Amino acid sequence: MLKRLLFLLLILPALLAGKAQRPNIVFMFTDDHSPLAISAYGSKINKTPHMDRIAREGMRFDNCLVTNSICGPSRAVILTGKYSHLNGFLTNGNRFDGEQQNFAKILQKSGYQTAMIGKWHLKSQPTGFDYSEVLIGQGPYYNPPMLKNGERTQHTGYTTDIITDLALDWLDKGRDQKKPFMLMYQHKAPHRNWQPGPKHLTMYDGITIPEPDSLFDDYSGRGTAARTQRMEIKRDLSPNDLKLNAPRNLTPEQLKLWNAAYGPKNEAFKKANLQGDDLIRWKYQRYIKDYLRCVASVDDNIGRILDYLDANDLTSNTLVIYSSDQGWFLGENGWFDKRWFYEYSLRMPLIARWPGVIRPGSTNSDMVSNVDFAPTFLDVAGVAKKIPTDFQGRSFLPQFKGETPDDWRKSFYYHYYEFPGAHSVRRHYGVRTETHKLIRFYGIDEWELYDLKADPTERTSRYGDPKYAEITAKLKKELTRLQKELKVPEDTRPIQRRKPAPKNKKS
Ligand code: CA
Repeated sequence: MLKRLLFLLLILPALLAGKAQRPNIVFMFTDDHSPLAISAYGSKINKTPHMDRIAREGMRFDNCLVTNSICGPSRAVILTGKYSHLNGFLTNGNRFDGEQQNFAKILQKSGYQTAMIGKWHLKSQPTGFDYSEVLIGQGPYYNPPMLKNGERTQHTGYTTDIITDLALDWLDKGRDQKKPFMLMYQHKAPHRNWQPGPKHLTMYDGITIPEPDSLFDDYSGRGTAARTQRMEIKRDLSPNDLKLNAPRNLTPEQLKLWNAAYGPKNEAFKKANLQGDDLIRWKYQRYIKDYLRCVASVDDNIGRILDYLDANDLTSNTLVIYSSDQGWFLGENGWFDKRWFYEYSLRMPLIARWPGVIRPGSTNSDMVSNVDFAPTFLDVAGVAKKIPTDFQGRSFLPQFKGETPDDWRKSFYYHYYEFPGAHSVRRHYGVRTETHKLIRFYGIDEWELYDLKADPTERTSRYGDPKYAEITAKLKKELTRLQKELKVPEDTRPIQRRKPAPKNKKS
């Protein structure tokens, strides 16, 4: 007995030290940021030095796929480790059931301090956090009211800066420094309607941003769904998107800055009376520049967080992740927005730095997904045993260490539900492998098949082409297998009968 006690006393400091060494997690997350607007992913249109730093000192994932390409649903999948049909958050019209299990709750019970700061967008209040200060709904770009642990607060300034100020404040004074922490630091930017901050209002003035090759796509190689959407730069950007009107609720000083940057150009536009392709080009420039200005502000602020970690000796024991809730169209196919199973909206950026675990400057091309984030965070925190058996994702901690498990997924299931809804993208599901993608728009019973090797930007569906009959049959079988494995309800018709979303609803 005495021996045992002595032994315990001897190892106690080691046990305590071991506990103190559990890694912190800083999960940086934005809304609607395409990997192709990050220079670490080879952007041809902007530079993101601080995001690039995370990639240079860590790992870039080139095949991170979203299960349902839209804001709220992606967040719900990340929290719960489950597909939308099981966590109940299928569309932005839903309300998240915070009673269900989520990874933050498990981390909290495992001795982690947990905080959620910034965009939440799940309607119900955050659960599983020691501290939260979140935007209300979408939240505005300027002067945001927020909910601090459920109590309303009001801030003046640019939202991307404010969310960072709050995160730094919590890191510095808000947390228990003796405990490991998990911080969800989540921006509204660069979500529609892309209002830049005061520092970037005139960035890119006098510069022409390169256009994507498919800006003038006519969708001739695709089906009804692509031809009936409402997300074209040509037609569907509003005066609000194009900043022909100043935003509401600016302070007089903010309004002055805004008018100085945008006012005279509005006049120039009206006088020029552009038409046809010239007008599309003008709209593209107007849209993409504001989008990239919003990204520039996020990047600056990420730099502030990285600097804080450096200055406070936190860098070496902190996993830093940068990601965004889905992919996005930067004018490819003539589109803005997301929603589709097509590659541009399917691929999420995912960059991770963890000194001593992740090899600097490495890349990974395994099919990982937002459904894997929850189990990965638990695995990283050393509580893999607490990953609930009904989580559908899988930890990619082995990938962080440069390994791919032999039985890693070779196919991926996707399902989008929000129709009728903003941008009129038809409900669809499908399966993607490394080489092919099969999509079924089940409300109109149309199929599409893409050969991702021969046609990586998916311009021409090969469905029905006899040359592709064999692969089509294989993929249909795999689709059925995945739906069964993931417990997708056979009857999706009740969702089809949902009340139409209000017109012009933002998401
Ligand atoms: Ca989003």
